[in-house]
Amino acid sequence: MSLRQEIRKGEVAIDAPPATDAGLVFIGRIRTPWTSRLDCPRQGRRDGPTCRIELFEPWTPGLAGIEAFETLEVLYWLDRSRRDLVRQSPADDGSTRGVFALRSPVRPNPIGTSLVTLLGVEGATMLVRGLDCLDGTPLIDLKPDRCAFTPLAPPQPGDFQVGD
Ligand code: SAM
Repeated sequence: MSLRQEIRKGEVAIDAPPATDAGLVFIGRIRTPWTSRLDCPRQGRRDGPTCRIELFEPWTPGLAGIEAFETLEVLYWLDRSRRDLVRQSPADDGSTRGVFALRSPVRPNPIGTSLVTLLGVEGATMLVRGLDCLDGTPLIDLKPDRCAFTPLAPPQPGDFQVGD
């Protein structure tokens, strides 16, 4: 899919069922330097520009402890994407791949994820590097990077299960 949202050679759009409310709530807004998809990085880079993640009330108490993590996983809603292309041609050369074999923003549920470097926290705003979304993109969730996170809750039997 191109920036103009037309269908490229070989791409397949389906008649997507109407979106239903999965109960998502946008908890903030992401401020980035990019207002056009033509300028946005395809994937964020950890040496990219500083971006701001603004958390809305009443969620700000949820930031307690976040400054201990250098890397955060950010989930966001790619709100300006179409959602109906099951085969896509990213290179616009006629060759296509299924949506679930791509990290394209065009997907049935346009969730984007990035690992970002946390530079600082200023009240309800986090300064980060590593994002690739348009200015104003809605924020879905923030989590500490799983590699740096040790569960605080006691272990459960499933934690020790291996194999079949
Ligand atoms: N890093 C995320 C991932 O892998 O899930 C997103 C990758 S996606 C390829 C990034 C691209 O999505 C950007 O280059 C831009 O073209 C597009 N994009 C960014 N913000 C968007 C938004 N709010 N709505 C629709 N498309 C967006």
